[in-house]
Formats: sequence, C-alpha cells, structure tokens
Amino acid sequence: MAMSLALTHTIADTRDAIAAARRRGQSIGFVPTMGALHAGHGSLIERARKECGFVVVSIFVNPTQFGTNEDFTRYPRTLPEDADLCERAGTDLIFAPEPAVVYPRDHRMYVEVTELQDGLEGPSRPGHFRGVATVVLKLFNIVQPDRAYFGQKDAQQVRIVQQMVRDLDVPLAIVVGPTIREPDGLALSSRNRYLEPAQRQQAVALYQTLETVRRRVAAGERNGSDLRQMMIHRIGATPGAVLDYAEIVDADSLRPVEQLTGPTLALLAVWFGATRLIDNMPLPAPTGP
Ligand code: AMP
Repeated sequence: MAMSLALTHTIADTRDAIAAARRRGQSIGFVPTMGALHAGHGSLIERARKECGFVVVSIFVNPTQFGTNEDFTRYPRTLPEDADLCERAGTDLIFAPEPAVVYPRDHRMYVEVTELQDGLEGPSRPGHFRGVATVVLKLFNIVQPDRAYFGQKDAQQVRIVQQMVRDLDVPLAIVVGPTIREPDGLALSSRNRYLEPAQRQQAVALYQTLETVRRRVAAGERNGSDLRQMMIHRIGATPGAVLDYAEIVDADSLRPVEQLTGPTLALLAVWFGATRLIDNMPLPAPTGP
C-alpha cells in the first residue's frame, strides 16, 4: 500500500526518512526539480514510482544556477499545487529546503564539468552549469538514491550530470525520460507560463523546426551546416522570436558537427520577449549509404 506523502525541509529529517525506507528494504528513486511542476516532471516521478520502492522529489529553486539578470526571484513557487501533483504521481517524500539549508554562509565548494559546460547554454548563462552540477551532487549526497531521473528536455544538463557521475564515481544510475509536450508540440516548461498568448502561439516554432530537422535527417540529410541554416531561417521567420542559438552537435561531446555520422542532437534556444525557451531533438545515427 502506498505511504502518505511526507514533506521535509532539513537535511537531517530527509536523511532520517530515507534511512527508514532503506531499513524497509526499499530502493530509492530521486527526481530533482525546481518546482512549478507539470506533466514533464510528473512523467519522471511516475517512472521512478514504477522502478523504485521509495520516491523522493526535491523542490528547490537553486540560486547558484541563476545569473544576476535571470529570473531567480520571479521563478514560480507553487508548493501546494506541486505537492498535489507529487502525490498523484506517487511520491513518498518531498524535500523542499530553503537556500540557507543548502548553502550555509560558509559554503565554498563548487563542481564544474569542463568542456561540456562551455557551449550551447554556456555563453548565454555563465556559471549556470556550475550551479547545476554543484546542487545536483549535493542533493545526490543528501538523498543517496539508487536511480536519479532527468528529462531529455534539458539535454546539456543530462550530459553534464552523466559525466559528473562517471568522473566522480557517484554510485547511482541516471535515467533519462523523454520530453513531454503540449498537444501542438511545445515542450512543457515551468517558464511557458511567462508567455503572452501571441508568444505562446508562436512558440510552437521550436518544435516544428526541430521536427523538420528530424524528418530531413531521416530522409538522408547529413550536412550539419545546412540543417543549422534551415533552423536559423525558420526561427528568423517566426514573429516575435529572437534566436539565441541553433546547433547540431555530437550527442556525446556536444561539439558541433559538420557531417552527421553518429548520434547527434539538434538544439534551439529562442527568446520570446523576456522569456527564453530551449528545446532539442535527439537524431539517431544515420543508416544506409
Ligand atoms: P526543472 O524543474 O525545470 O529544473 O526540471 C526538473 C527536471 O524535469 C529536469 O530533469 C528536467 O529536464 C525535467 N523536465 C522539465 N521539463 C520537462 C519536459 N517537458 N519533459 C520531460 N522532462 C522535463
């Protein structure tokens, strides 16, 4: 029978609840989030529910991954609604710490995953992945899960967390869930709520552009530069959209590729007014001649 949902705010209480689950012989599944939860988060929680005995969701708007001009203070904080979604999706424990719990005043230690953090989001969001890697490793050390769940929606984040786990010998498995989308294809994001109705209409251009890339690659297109130019053109022709970047990169190194030979990713970052959206499409390795 499912246990009722518990909520902790301190590291000690979180460790106690997880230790009790371990004593019951349960494996630990962990879904780190910043709250403002939607069906994308829900799908990760449901997967954890199927695969693990005890499911922990963290809700923490991590200050160290926001730049000075970014939306840290106005990032949505919706704990009561988040708790409802967590409960429906099968969460056992929500860990929702205050920043001072995660970062006491004498905090000194940061984690950086070199090279993978430099491209794509890197230039527009300096320090972002340093903050992400640091908080994710801290949360891993607090929760000590067997399996941790991340969304393909944040493809660069996934690669960075995978690399960190490998390089620092963190004893857990990373599970990657597919990007969950609105019926028209827009990737679910906590930031979609910032969009005005007209921007929301146009925002589907990200998915449509990535889907065009996927179709062209499936039809045999191998030229990364041509695909990139097409993406730039499509976003440029979208009213209200301002391109940050459009890239075709190697799925492992995240370096741009000219000729598609192995698995790659198409990625976009696009501004609509003050709102920045990202999306990506994994592209399988080409087959045939
Ligand atoms: P966030 O709360 O935005 O930090 O995201 C928490 C986790 O949910 C990350 O692993 C994200 O990649 C994942 N996530 C966010 N949006 C989606 C989505 N539309 N589909 C699948 N996973 C998502």
